[in-house]
Amino acid sequence: MFVEAIVPAAGLGVRMKSFLPKPLVKIGKKPVIIHTLEALAKNRDIKRILVAVSPDNLNRFKEVISGYKIGKSLSFVAGGRTRRDSVKNCLKEIFGETDFVLIHDAVRPFISQGLISRLIAEAKKSRAVICGVPVKATIKKVAVCRPSSVVRSLTVAQTLDRENVWEIQTPQVFAKSLLTAAYKRYANRAVTDDASLVEKLGQKVRVIEGSYFNIKITTPEDLILAKAILKNLLPSLRAPKGRSNL
Ligand code: C5P
Repeated sequence: MFVEAIVPAAGLGVRMKSFLPKPLVKIGKKPVIIHTLEALAKNRDIKRILVAVSPDNLNRFKEVISGYKIGKSLSFVAGGRTRRDSVKNCLKEIFGETDFVLIHDAVRPFISQGLISRLIAEAKKSRAVICGVPVKATIKKVAVCRPSSVVRSLTVAQTLDRENVWEIQTPQVFAKSLLTAAYKRYANRAVTDDASLVEKLGQKVRVIEGSYFNIKITTPEDLILAKAILKNLLPSLRAPKGRSNL
């Protein structure tokens, strides 16, 4: 069983309004990406981690990451214009013997060991598995009326049935052959996750329950939440599988 992990970290962080790339912003004593890499490195099935970073920030990332002992083979890959391009560039570097590819956003530092193991175990059975959580809020599609006007005016276009709506997270794990076929066939589709491309192939994608703590750090308020999660939950997130209920 040979698993490689891809960590897209080449975003510009425009929504964070920070001069630092999001993965390098600190929560607690360590940058976001260090929390993420340490969690992935603890999993025994993962043999190597490929980190996609923007070429402009490569030296900065290398310098920061070299200050920590990650304990796993790491390779840096040039990121692309979109997240999809960054993953595509990493896929070109995957080892021949790799059976499964796990993809996890650099900006989701609170993944538990239990979740990583469950996803890899499930991928062995179903070849494509993602995680997520049922939405708690009422979800509506909103339409912009009078788009030409300076003041944006919004109206409800549709209320979705919350019953079957899940917010999807990473990690997502796929058989390498499936993922590479999806990326090859739908090379230019604009997508925000990798499963979207695998779904287009007609492949069933399994969904397992992730965690509400597995947040994506995108905007400044997410940093406040992240600090609270770190303070309260880190020991159980890092517990070996079986001893964590997250
Ligand atoms: O942009 P989004 O919030 O979807 O970013 C999710 C992850 O993808 C982040 O970790 C970000 O750094 C990464 N990303 C990337 N290359 C891009 C854009 C985003 O690796 N061009």
